[in-house]
Amino acid sequence: MSAPGYFRNIYDTVVSIAIGMKITLKYCFQKTVTVQYPEQRLTFAPRYRGIHEFEADQCIACDLCAKACPVDCIYIDKTAPRKIDKKTGKASGGELLRFAIDYSKCLFCALCTEPCPTECIHMGKLHDLSCYSREDVVVEFAELDKKGQRTPIPLWMERNAEKIPWVKEEYERVKAGKLATTAADIKPVK
Ligand code: SF4
Ligand code: SF4
Repeated sequence: MSAPGYFRNIYDTVVSIAIGMKITLKYCFQKTVTVQYPEQRLTFAPRYRGIHEFEADQCIACDLCAKACPVDCIYIDKTAPRKIDKKTGKASGGELLRFAIDYSKCLFCALCTEPCPTECIHMGKLHDLSCYSREDVVVEFAELDKKGQRTPIPLWMERNAEKIPWVKEEYERVKAGKLATTAADIKPVK
């Protein structure tokens, strides 16, 4: 290599390092946009659409939510028709054998909440259902109802509930079957 070529290489290297460092320094002093989850968390908009919350005791198994679903990811099975008992305000008649949603397909579009005549299916605010198998992303809501839950308890929540105060609060809410919000539901036109 000639002497000019040698010095040209050194010059190019120094310039490219300087450009790289300039970009790095620029981002060093910018406002951080990520958070150390789950120790820290961001606030969701009230209309955020997360994992569903389902009130099985109000479901008449009419299939309207499943028919409205654009990806056919709601599975319902019953022994006989159900209807709301006017005295108790709960669904009675046949048994709700299955109400499941496959979250490997769900688009979180909320279209299933719109036609529900008893307003028993809502978009919740949990967003993370990470798990170890494909079967675990199919949530069996009718089975959860037997434990008094409206929505599943994700693995990360179970593992961090004792360590992180806000996670414990959410864990206890889900375990007690309390709804988070119904703000994300698409309200039917009256
Ligand atoms: S949110 Fe949309 S895709 Fe998911 S179950 Fe409801 S209708 Fe189907
Ligand atoms: S539309 Fe409502 S009542 Fe009918 S099956 Fe779906 S969740 Fe149950």
